[in-house]
Amino acid sequence: MTDKTEIPVMIEREQDPKRTNPLAHVFDELVKFCRSRSMFMLHYCTGCGAIELPPAMTSRFDMERLGIQPMVTPRQADILLVTGYVSVKTLKRIILTYEQMSSPKYVVGICSCTVNGGMYWQSYATAKKLDEYLPIDLYIAGCMPRPEAVIEGMQKLMADIRSGKASNWKDYYRNYDYYLGNQQHLFGENWQTPTDVIGEARNYSLEGPGTTGEHTQLLEQYQQPLEPITTHFRIGESVTVSGEEDT
Ligand code: SF4
Repeated sequence: MTDKTEIPVMIEREQDPKRTNPLAHVFDELVKFCRSRSMFMLHYCTGCGAIELPPAMTSRFDMERLGIQPMVTPRQADILLVTGYVSVKTLKRIILTYEQMSSPKYVVGICSCTVNGGMYWQSYATAKKLDEYLPIDLYIAGCMPRPEAVIEGMQKLMADIRSGKASNWKDYYRNYDYYLGNQQHLFGENWQTPTDVIGEARNYSLEGPGTTGEHTQLLEQYQQPLEPITTHFRIGESVTVSGEEDT
């Protein structure tokens, strides 16, 4: 595992002393309030903890009354919910999904298996600590946590978004070399994703000393241009898809 670089504290846009307009602060607070009250959640059902989600989201506990509803695409989701143990192969999909989400974005790990491996702590096939590969905003521990615990956790996340504390998504940009190093440790040094995370870090003005390093250099060394997916289809023939590889 790699170590995180100590990052100097950056001036957040909201705290920038050059912002003299008093209405800017009011507007920022309004945005944070609205954001915290309208959350779209992509639930990645990786393990048995997913069983408690249907009651949490349907009429028995009705999480939608809080302003949280399911979303089926990463592009339009705010929260990535990981519900249980994560196999090495599944973790690749989780990282691909996370990187496709728009910022600001939040990750919630449900179940003890996402915290420390849980009852699979000795398994060769699972990733033990999810926060070594992605920035996690909230863990809801338990084997498995009940819907009441899930809802309480979500309310805590909403309060953190409202107060501006939930900002771990910035850590992925500022410490990308750390996260990428751990991903390479698990998947091999030629691991790559289609997302230009370094470019996004620059776009958000979040590039720091931990954004690039020895692991992002490996990324540049191994990165291959992605091949377009092509389909060849004629009536009466089976469909062949090329350009898709198991990452
Ligand atoms: S913590 Fe328990 S319920 Fe949750 S994924 Fe692990 S084994 Fe399954």
